[in-house]
Amino acid sequence: MKHLLIQGGRIIDPSQGIDVTGSLLIAEGKILWLGKGEATPPQPDYDVLPAQGLIICPGFIDLHCHLRQPGFEEKETIATGTKAAARGGFTTICCMPNTSPPLDNQTVVEFIKAKSASEGVVRVLPIGCISKGRRGEELAEMGELASAGVIAFSDDGEPMLNSHLMRQALDYSRAFDLPVIDHCEDKTLTAGGQMNEGVISTRLGLRGIPNAAEEIMVARDLALAQLTGGRLHIAHVTTEGSVELIRRAKEKGIKVSAEVTPHHLTLTEERVIGYDTNAKVNPPLRTKRDIKALIQGLNDNTIDIIATDHAPHTEADKLCEFDLAPFGISGLETALGSLMSLVHSGEIDLVALIAKLTQEPAQIIGNKYGGLGTLATGASADVTLFDPNLEWVVEPKAFASKGRNTPLAGERLKGRVMATIFQGNLVYKDDSIKVKAK
Ligand SMILES: [Zn+2]
Ligand SMILES: [Zn+2]
Repeated sequence: MKHLLIQGGRIIDPSQGIDVTGSLLIAEGKILWLGKGEATPPQPDYDVLPAQGLIICPGFIDLHCHLRQPGFEEKETIATGTKAAARGGFTTICCMPNTSPPLDNQTVVEFIKAKSASEGVVRVLPIGCISKGRRGEELAEMGELASAGVIAFSDDGEPMLNSHLMRQALDYSRAFDLPVIDHCEDKTLTAGGQMNEGVISTRLGLRGIPNAAEEIMVARDLALAQLTGGRLHIAHVTTEGSVELIRRAKEKGIKVSAEVTPHHLTLTEERVIGYDTNAKVNPPLRTKRDIKALIQGLNDNTIDIIATDHAPHTEADKLCEFDLAPFGISGLETALGSLMSLVHSGEIDLVALIAKLTQEPAQIIGNKYGGLGTLATGASADVTLFDPNLEWVVEPKAFASKGRNTPLAGERLKGRVMATIFQGNLVYKDDSIKVKAK
């Protein structure tokens, strides 16, 4: 395999504190050399990928997505989901276990691993169920799942309502040093809920989902994490109150990490006006005030990472009355463009944003997959190149994902992934990028 030189871009690697203009040399799937300015690479023979004006950073890591396979292949497959990931700049994605059958045993984990090795274009790391069949009644074989290679446990899509089981899960997970990820929702408060509870839900005549439904479960989980010493990860934080609870828990030394999605950071409940089923998501889009708190939470590291909660559905699934539509947004391909709006507005620092998509999720996953989220010499050559200023219009029909369910259709975003390299292979490139022999 010929060496590849990514030449003359702004290299940002938060894991090494690097922010320089320079070039990156890749050989045999690994990062071989990083040179500042016009430095000449140590190898004489390579192809050149010109990166002037582009940001070069570690490949993005998504700790939370839904690939729908096995069982819901009409919505997404590992093949289409990983292609969507590559277009979004993600080189590692962690898939949630709400498949059919669910990821609650070794056989399904092996299926995901084999399928992603044969049909996937980026790394897929499975998340195993907390409970058997995701029924919340008895624990899944966590030890078996851990040895099969899951990177976390979650019943996502469903919260873990049974506090005793959640306690046991956090307790047992300590033996494997894996996090337990909870989708925090008190179902007794959200039954029939369609959107954020407030003036707009009343006006639209839709049943609301109050912030408290999330915060009650966040508070319970934090108490259980404190009790057990287990590692808790809170999925898709959406409310001001949750951010405050997590902030205080971290001050107390409770082992908790948290994520926020691009849509909860950039879109408000007003998107639901007009009954756009593509804006129907769980937890729901909230208010400006919540968004402000989420951004503050990211900036003071209360919220550790950004994860997409990519939840693809078919057009037919969403083409129905609001009440009947499934929850979820197809998010892998619009993530960077959405998030860059917060950089352009000065609300989030570019380097910090990249850290939340690379180094920070890598830390949650841990070391067993080798250096993820870094451009350190010898690390897997997982690299994302993006143009921070290129404007483009979201065309769901052009998505690699089968899920075209985005509330951003037809909107202009500023910031676009131009190329994605996974283990040294160019798995996505924009047509304007031309790789040349030296
Ligand atoms: Zn969820
Ligand atoms: Zn999810």
